[in-house]
Amino acid sequence: NRCFYFDDTNSTNAFMLGHAAELKSGDICVAEYQSAGRGRRGRKWISPYGHHIYASLFWRFNQDITKASGFSLVVGCAIVEVLKDFGVEGLGLKWPNDIYLDHKKLAGILIEVSQTTSQYTDLVIGFGINMSMSAEQGELIDQPWSDLSTMARMPDKTALLIKLHAQLKRDLQLFEKHGLSEFATRWNAHDLFINREVTLTMSPNAVTGICRGIDSQGAILLETEQGISAFVGGEISLRAA
Ligand code: ATP
Repeated sequence: NRCFYFDDTNSTNAFMLGHAAELKSGDICVAEYQSAGRGRRGRKWISPYGHHIYASLFWRFNQDITKASGFSLVVGCAIVEVLKDFGVEGLGLKWPNDIYLDHKKLAGILIEVSQTTSQYTDLVIGFGINMSMSAEQGELIDQPWSDLSTMARMPDKTALLIKLHAQLKRDLQLFEKHGLSEFATRWNAHDLFINREVTLTMSPNAVTGICRGIDSQGAILLETEQGISAFVGGEISLRAA
């Protein structure tokens, strides 16, 4: 695999999307700074210089896009488990793509589709992890955030990236072979909201119920008076009720 390294770039996802034709599954782009880091739906990922991770992995998923709906859940599980291996405690996942530490946002995942055919789907999987954010840098983030600076020993950034790269490749292959079967248990173990009351917003609609984890397609299961229903789609946001 190849690693593209930037001191300064607009967005590691944008770079990978722009070079997708030359990439192979597992190629990765890493930057020290992003001038236009991206979140979902046009939101920003605040990406200052410092000891942070901004990276994007290219992946050719050998199935059509309808089978790719669980991708962000696989990536979330992989990142949380690698961070746990480095000794980070207090981690949790929020469906479909957020990683929290002590109930504040530590990391984000943004998956963008580069190309899709009936045989395969080319994806760029971006992730940002706050390692040591100064209060001044953090002021730009418009929701509660966390970083790894509370750890007794800060993980080595290169070691963390190498481990993330290996585990993501392994888990994406597993997902491609067996779907989400193994990941549902892993996800539910990390899910911050499981068995708690939550509201799903699908603008302009909202529905409140008890979160019952994910199904085999990666949809979130919500129990309401009508029973358990599955919700899926990129436009859904989950909040504690
Ligand atoms: P959703 O629940 O719909 O995913 P979200 O607020 O988590 O909502 P994302 O698109 O996943 O949205 O992430 C972008 C948001 O993350 C930004 O709008 C901002 O609130 C927050 N954010 C941006 N940069 C950082 C950062 N470095 N650390 C923590 N949070 C950040």
